[in-house]
Amino acid sequence: MSGTASALSNLRLLETMKQRANIDELTGLYNRRFLEDYGRKLIAIARRKESPVGVIMMDLDHFKEFNDRYGHAVGDAALKRFAETAAANMRSTDVIGRLGGEEFCCLLSYTALEQAERVAERIRQQVEKTVVEIPGSFERTTVSIGVASTDPFGYDIYTLMRLADKAVYDAKRQGRNRVVTALPPEERLRLVSG
Ligand code: GH3
Ligand code: MG
Ligand code: MG
Repeated sequence: MSGTASALSNLRLLETMKQRANIDELTGLYNRRFLEDYGRKLIAIARRKESPVGVIMMDLDHFKEFNDRYGHAVGDAALKRFAETAAANMRSTDVIGRLGGEEFCCLLSYTALEQAERVAERIRQQVEKTVVEIPGSFERTTVSIGVASTDPFGYDIYTLMRLADKAVYDAKRQGRNRVVTALPPEERLRLVSG
């Protein structure tokens, strides 16, 4: 191979490895590192354009029980199925990734809170309808979802993800299989202090 050709193939190797480093093996979605990197940039750009960014945080319900009952391989298949269903409800400008385990996150550019809530509710309903094959039959999984947006407080990506995560926790407490919108800390304070 000539010097130029091997330099080019090295470059290609590097690109492939970079891509792989950003991708979750099981689902083919982006991983946490990519979501956080991209989220930081997305919010910086959105700030300059004064446009909102929405975050949707998702956690499968009672997934430990699902795994214990049907085994890890069926659990993996359910995670893949969920990833497909959620990804099918995104626009081309949205990004979806797996944060780890049975937790997933979407970043929606140019998306205010109400729009993000609508997307989240659509995902919730689609997931509820989606069947997962188990030996000799079918099973369903459900998802609890938390939604947050940069608008109107201009949060950074880490704060946004934390807020959306808290909303997931609230969704769990309220009975799972539902969408809960994050109440910004400022709003909580206002409610408490009257
Ligand atoms: P909750 O409704 O409160 O979210 O309950 P949960 O059981 O979903 O939550 P918990 O965090 O207790 O359990 C998450 C489970 O997800 C634990 C593990 O069995 C399963 N899990 C995590 N990662 C993977 C994976 O890569 N593959 C499979 N098959 N299961 C996984
Ligand atoms: Mg979890
Ligand atoms: Mg869970």
